[in-house]
Amino acid sequence: MPAVLRVALPVPLPTLFDYLPPATGEAVAGSRVLVPFGKGKKAVGVVVEAGVESAVGNARLKRVLRVLDDAPLLDAELMATLARAADYWLGAPGEAYANALPLALREDRPLPDLHEEAWALTAAGRSALDAGSRRGGSRALLEALARGAQTADLLHEMLPGWRDAARRLDEAGLIERTRAHTAEPAPVTAAPALSDEQRQAVEVIGEGLGRFQPFLLDGVTGSGKTEVYLALIEKVIAQGKQALLLVPEIGLAPQTVRRLRERLGVAVQVLHSNLAEGDRARAWLRARSGEAKVILGTRSAIFTPLPQAGLIVVDEEHDSAYKQQEGFRYHARDLAILRGRALDVPVVLGSATPSLESLANVQAGRYRALHLRARPGAIRPPQVQIVDMRAQRLEHGLSPALLAAVGDTVVRGEQALVFRNRRGYAPVLLCYSCGWHAECPRCEHPMTLHAGRRALVCHHCDYTTRMPGQCPSCFSPELKPQGQGTERLEEALTVHFPDVPVLRIDRETTRRRDAFEQLLEGLHEDRPAILIGTQMLAKGHDLPNLTLVAIVGVDEGLHSVDFRASERLAQLVVQVAGRAGRAKKPGRVLLQTHHPEHPLLRQLLAQGYGPSAATLLEERRSVQLPPFGHQVLLRADAHQREHVDAFLADAAHALGGAPLQLAGPMPAPMPLRAGRHRGQLLIEAETRSALHSALRPWYPSLSTLPSARRVRWSLDVDPIDLY
Ligand code: ADP
Ligand code: ZN
Ligand code: ZN
Repeated sequence: MPAVLRVALPVPLPTLFDYLPPATGEAVAGSRVLVPFGKGKKAVGVVVEAGVESAVGNARLKRVLRVLDDAPLLDAELMATLARAADYWLGAPGEAYANALPLALREDRPLPDLHEEAWALTAAGRSALDAGSRRGGSRALLEALARGAQTADLLHEMLPGWRDAARRLDEAGLIERTRAHTAEPAPVTAAPALSDEQRQAVEVIGEGLGRFQPFLLDGVTGSGKTEVYLALIEKVIAQGKQALLLVPEIGLAPQTVRRLRERLGVAVQVLHSNLAEGDRARAWLRARSGEAKVILGTRSAIFTPLPQAGLIVVDEEHDSAYKQQEGFRYHARDLAILRGRALDVPVVLGSATPSLESLANVQAGRYRALHLRARPGAIRPPQVQIVDMRAQRLEHGLSPALLAAVGDTVVRGEQALVFRNRRGYAPVLLCYSCGWHAECPRCEHPMTLHAGRRALVCHHCDYTTRMPGQCPSCFSPELKPQGQGTERLEEALTVHFPDVPVLRIDRETTRRRDAFEQLLEGLHEDRPAILIGTQMLAKGHDLPNLTLVAIVGVDEGLHSVDFRASERLAQLVVQVAGRAGRAKKPGRVLLQTHHPEHPLLRQLLAQGYGPSAATLLEERRSVQLPPFGHQVLLRADAHQREHVDAFLADAAHALGGAPLQLAGPMPAPMPLRAGRHRGQLLIEAETRSALHSALRPWYPSLSTLPSARRVRWSLDVDPIDLY
């Protein structure tokens, strides 16, 4: 038996691959290698084990072409955690390792230069600036560099989207790259005197630095959770250690980076998918070298190497953005716990609306809960009020009470947010003569009318057609939009309040990179305005003059078939409501509904999130749904329904007599999408170990089923939605 290297390759297969050691050089676990793979192709893989015996004969093995790293790129802790994660999420190991590496490090190229990328004006650049010959983004960049060389990180913060300008100016010889180390730590702002609750949280967590313990920091929006993180990160830096802070969305990053940098006076490494690949790799490598003390990032930043780990913080831990929904379907919050254990550091999960999973972990004694109940920055919590929509004359779905409240707000010179989690003009276009409605031919689902683009768009597959002028079925001109999306609300509010700026923030209006930040920056803090927005506006960016939040159209969430819908609705309502009255002015929240008597809404209003979540958790317990039962979802899709059915039937059969509950094979809740038939098999068990011990051998066997070749399939451990 030859001694071989066992290598993870970025392919969606449940196996590692054996290779003979390279002719020269030595590869150790955690280093990258270039190997022959497939017909005449090469791939970069990560050595998982070195010097192991292969069951395959020498003759059939290929040799590693080249070792890319002398020392392991992924350290022992990351390697072990990744192996555990691939095992837990039943992922292809190669995809797990690929997720851990920034794209630029998955290629056969030298490691990027660790030095910070910085830019400076050339002499020609200075003349151009003095001559005033450039406009727009180019001018802004020239002006920024007139004060001295700046690092890419700082430029990204000051001038989102600066790279295009940099490319133009570089080509024109007006600016140049410099290696001068110019990052001046920004002035350090003083921390506010912490409240008793904050101080206690910092003390309790601070005492535990140096050992693993998960904490749930449960504090309403504006209660000062970020101040607690800052105080802890200060302690960690003082010990010479590293802190990793995860946020759910890129939109939240710039403001938080600024706050961290201003307070801590250290460089903050940022890692998220909107960064240029080189920058991302550099930030990752700086963390690996220990040079980076504070790392802030979105989901995939949980894979950052932390050789001197001191603390991991997951902010807004309930956010579903932490779950990866394709490829390697890990959950960054749960992975944070795995890493915290491996690194022996505390993990702080913060939220105003903790997930039921984390609350159950607190109940079970696995996580320690800390509460922040007061809001130091605000006068008092917002008042929440239900608007009963029944028997009201609505104007484009808006009730007179809601319009009056918006009117009062803008008259006072304040800002109002109308929250509607549906973009487009109207979700349905209906013929009043014959009942026809526009439907996506590839999904058999209603298409959304986008009036501005004069188009019908399928929100499931993006299939787009022109808006018809008459009914295609009976040729009647009586086509009427049904229901309201953000675009329609924007129109209605613009007509109703012609003198007030109306700003719509959704995926349509924020397509461009950094558009979100720029839109909000255009908002005058001291002027009245009306914002209309989707989920994107539920968090991030402080809006100090926002005093009214009106929530419309949450009723869908009250009647969904998804058992997580009520948890999500409660979180959304509380999060959106928390945007009102963050600063010195009191806030007000209106919740417009057809179901004012609904128990969840009643309890939310009367008692708040905590007791409502406790009720939801008891409901889950009584029916053994997660987090009390455990689920794995096998999904499959194909152009032909028979192929889906055959594969799922074979997969169910292959489970044999394992003591599991199966639901299905059955069609997915959306049985057709983008022309593909979809089906699923839901596998449940009372204990995690029962589930995993049955599925561990089953998962690799799936890809060997002949029927698997005719479908696309995936496994989702702890799925967060059943679509
Ligand atoms: P959260 O992260 O819980 O939403 P933040 O930490 O952002 O809350 O705090 C909300 C606001 O209150 C911020 O403007 C912050 O500066 C302020 N704040 C937080 N803690 C204190 C404190 N102890 N004293 C005064 N202001 C505080
Ligand atoms: Zn018709
Ligand atoms: Zn479609």
